[in-house]
Amino acid sequence: MRQAIVAANWKMNGSKAQVAELLSGFKSGIQNKAAQVVVFSPAVFLADVQAQLQGSTIAWGGQNAHTADSGAYTGETSLGMLKEFGCTYVLVGHSERRTLFGEDDALVAAKVKAALDAGVTPMLCIGETLEQREAGVTGDVCRRQLQAVLDVVGVDGFRQLVVAYEPVWAIGTGKTASPQQAQDVHAELREFLAKADANMAEKIQILYGGSVKAASAAELFAMPDIDGGLVGGASLLVEEFVGICNAA
Ligand code: PGA
Repeated sequence: MRQAIVAANWKMNGSKAQVAELLSGFKSGIQNKAAQVVVFSPAVFLADVQAQLQGSTIAWGGQNAHTADSGAYTGETSLGMLKEFGCTYVLVGHSERRTLFGEDDALVAAKVKAALDAGVTPMLCIGETLEQREAGVTGDVCRRQLQAVLDVVGVDGFRQLVVAYEPVWAIGTGKTASPQQAQDVHAELREFLAKADANMAEKIQILYGGSVKAASAAELFAMPDIDGGLVGGASLLVEEFVGICNAA
């Protein structure tokens, strides 16, 4: 059985006060011991997150990292820095990074490799745009995004990462993929990965992301190939996120 993961992606939101309020709400509200909860915080709050989550069962991570260990990369954060603040996960290839910050498949693959080399678990985000879904190329797009990483880190690398399938049209739009729509893609992705290695495909956690809410979580998570969720907007509301975690 694959362990469920529920991850909060706060994006560029929050304040020191809000971080404290959210984390104290998560710690007291989340009863589900079966799911691994992960918080992806803006880098500047990681010291606060570390201080407040140390010793709890909730893990945390950065929303992005550079591939280099250090150097002249103004504005960037290295994996070593994330690790110093206790991060065990890092988001890689979120659609906002891909579309707003020009990250292509090659850079995403390099970031996944750098994270694996640093011993930080990458959560690799993939997903199609509305245009691509309507053109019937959802599977092709997601397979291409996975293949680019597979080419660089191989099956053994894939054994150590988590995939988040996030249809771009469902992110922040309030339009969740239906449980069946999501399940269909998850099953297709697992089938694709099984061609590389059946055992890896069986074990890899594939999360769904895109307007997940407490009200829709249980139905999504009940699907056989959906192993939890990556949650944006609803992770900024204690009751919503706690509800989603407890539904996993
Ligand atoms: P959303 O964001 O839950 O607000 O749609 C998900 C994400 O971007 O990870």
